[in-house]
Order: sequence, then structure tokens, then C-alpha cells
Amino acid sequence: MQGQHNKRGEFQFIMLRIGILGGGQLGRMLLQEAPNYPVDVHILESDPNCPASNVGKNLYTGNFSSYDDVVSFGMQMDVLTTEIEHVNVDALQYLEDQGVKIIPRSACLRTIKDKIGQKKFYQQQGIQSPAYRVIHTRDELNGHLDFLPAAQKLAKGGYDGKGVQLILHNDDIAKGFDAPSVLEKLVDIDKEIAVSVAVGQDGSTAIYPAVEMVFDPVLNVLDVQVCPAGISAAVVEKANALAVKVATGFASPGLFAVEMFVDKQGEVWVNETAPRVHNSGHHTIEAHYSSQFDMLWRILLGYPLGNTEMIQSSVMLNILGAEGEVGPVRYEGLKAVLAIPNAFVHLYGKQSTKPGRKMGHVTLMGDDVPQLLQQAHQIKTTLLVKAQH
Ligand code: ADP
Repeated sequence: MQGQHNKRGEFQFIMLRIGILGGGQLGRMLLQEAPNYPVDVHILESDPNCPASNVGKNLYTGNFSSYDDVVSFGMQMDVLTTEIEHVNVDALQYLEDQGVKIIPRSACLRTIKDKIGQKKFYQQQGIQSPAYRVIHTRDELNGHLDFLPAAQKLAKGGYDGKGVQLILHNDDIAKGFDAPSVLEKLVDIDKEIAVSVAVGQDGSTAIYPAVEMVFDPVLNVLDVQVCPAGISAAVVEKANALAVKVATGFASPGLFAVEMFVDKQGEVWVNETAPRVHNSGHHTIEAHYSSQFDMLWRILLGYPLGNTEMIQSSVMLNILGAEGEVGPVRYEGLKAVLAIPNAFVHLYGKQSTKPGRKMGHVTLMGDDVPQLLQQAHQIKTTLLVKAQH
């Protein structure tokens, strides 16, 4: 734990300088929790108007993919974390060698950043994840017809389903990626769930209840999300065991959102892991005692982990930029949604909208999940993100 003992032998916390790589909505929501603790927070981000810019005073303009920018920013920090995987890991490794605490550790980020490395890690750790083959070029796909149907995933740079292409049969090969990727056996998915696991600096762990994710089939981004997931106790047990195995397997403190598939037979398969606060944990701001953002501060500061217990069931929906709307943002129907007593609205402060862009989210709390789902679908047609014309 970071701190010192005073003359009377009492333990006192000291102010730490914490750096965050990335100033998007995740960085913004992390900043919103920061003043609860003795921290001096700094953000590295290339866009001076990023979502975090409204809430953080220490914004360093720089690129988190640049070795030099990350090193010069990180050298001024006690602890460094990231809101995104696509950061310069060599710089983080150098900073680690210089004594800067990197959470999650650079080796963990290096493994996760590359889907091939991530799949190898699951295999080495004996973690159930769909079978895969490594592919380098589109042509190579022709040599794996026996493996179809499959999902082809870009090794690097994929985000929100943009680096994923279903290759169901031979005819689909033409639309395959011509780049290093994994070809993953298609799972007969019943449900997509996520379990976030906190790993403290002392190795202690805390598990958030599983959430169920429903994706928008067109945009391929998280559509609505339900907590707790509608899965049996047996599936919960399997999912929790897998998530803890993944999170502790990285041998690093951090917060790990483990995305999993539940197949039609009730088997659980790890899809992928995000070593950070995650879209699947936004509901924890209101619906859980310790939110994912509060939890990450506790991890970064070496404090005891928070209480992951649920206060009430919740449904969370992303507020996305409407189709055909590009430009400076305006919100239609916001007043009506703000008037809903069990709705919590979060807008990310993005100045311009485009179709499918994540502009905010709404969490609905209550005991009756079907009713919350109905409310969520209503909000989707009420609260619209459009451009100013
Ligand atoms: P991203 O990291 O870009 O979010 P994912 O790996 O989560 O990409 O894949 C996006 C979506 O594609 C998943 O949510 C799932 O619906 C589908 N998908 C991915 N892998 C498989 C698979 N092995 N079997 C069936 N569907 C899959």
C-alpha cells in the first residue's frame, strides 16, 4: 500500500501521480471517480477536445502509440494505466524497468493486444476458448476449408467487431482479411456474457456478477446489456471460474473484463479479454456498491478492493450516433429520458456525432428485468443523437 507511518505509528496515505493513456469516455468516467481518493491525475491524449478534457485539468497532448510521448509522459508518473490496448507497449516496458508501476503490466498488454498472442495464452493456460488456426494471408484461408464455419479476426487493431469477419463457407473467403489473423471455430452461441474480475496489487480478487450482452447485428456494437445475466447457477459457476483463471493467469494487478460465449449445450468459452474498464461494466456506476471505475482506483492505489455486489438489477444501453447524421451534436428526446425516475443518463461530451459512434449510455435500475428491457427499447426510439443542421 502506498503511504507512510506518522510519529504515532498510524498509516497515512500519500498523494500519488497517476497517468492514464487515453482520454475517451472510459478515461472520462475514471476521472469522474478520482476526487474520492488522494490522487493527482494526468491524461495523455492527442485530441484536446476529447471526452476527458471536460473533467480533467491535466491533459497532455500526445499520442499514446508513440514511444517517445508515452515515455516522457510516463516518467513523470508513479503509476500508469490505460483505457485502451492499442498503446505503445515497448514504452511501457521501458517505464516498468525504470520503476514506474504499470497496471496492467506491459507483458499482459502485449499478450492481449495481439489476438494471436491472446489465443496462445488461453491455450497455454488451459482456458477453454474456441479452437483456432493462425492465418497470414487471405489465400491461406483456402487451405482451411475443413475448419469452416469460422470467425476470422485480425491479429491487431480490431475494435468493436470491426476486425471480425464470419467465414461460413468457401464463398466467404473473398471477403476475408488479407492480414495476420486468427481463424476461430464458430460457436453455436446461446448467450454472450462478460465477467469483470479485479486483481489487487496484493493478489486479492473480486468478481462482478456476470452481465449478458446483446449486440446490434448491423453495427456490431453492444446494444443492451442486462445484469445479472439470465444464466443458470451452473453456468455462472463455470463462467466465474474461467474469468478468474484468465485474470490471475496474467500475473498482473488490474481490472479484467472477460467476454465469454455460452453455447447451446451450456458450455462456456472465453472469447476475449479487455485488461481495463469496459463497456460491459458501465451499469456498475449506479447498480453496484463499488463501480468498475472506483475499483480501478483502488487497484491503482494499492487499496483494499471494493464491494462488487449488486444493489439492484439493471439494463444498460449505449446511446449511439443516429444513421445518416454527421456533424456537431444535438440530442433529441433527452428531456423525456431525464424525466424517467429509474434512468441514469451519461453523455460523453463528444462534440460531433457520426453513425454508430458511442455518444453516451443510459442505465435503468429496477427489480423487473423484462420491464427494464421494454424501457430500454423505448429510450432507443426516444433519445436520438443527431447532427445540427
Ligand atoms: P471485437 O473484439 O471487435 O468486439 P469479438 O471477438 O468480440 O470482436 O467478435 C465480435 C462478435 O462476433 C462477437 O460478439 C460474436 O457475436 C461474433 N463472434 C466472434 N467470435 C465468434 C465465434 N468464435 N463464434 C461465433 N461468433 C463469434
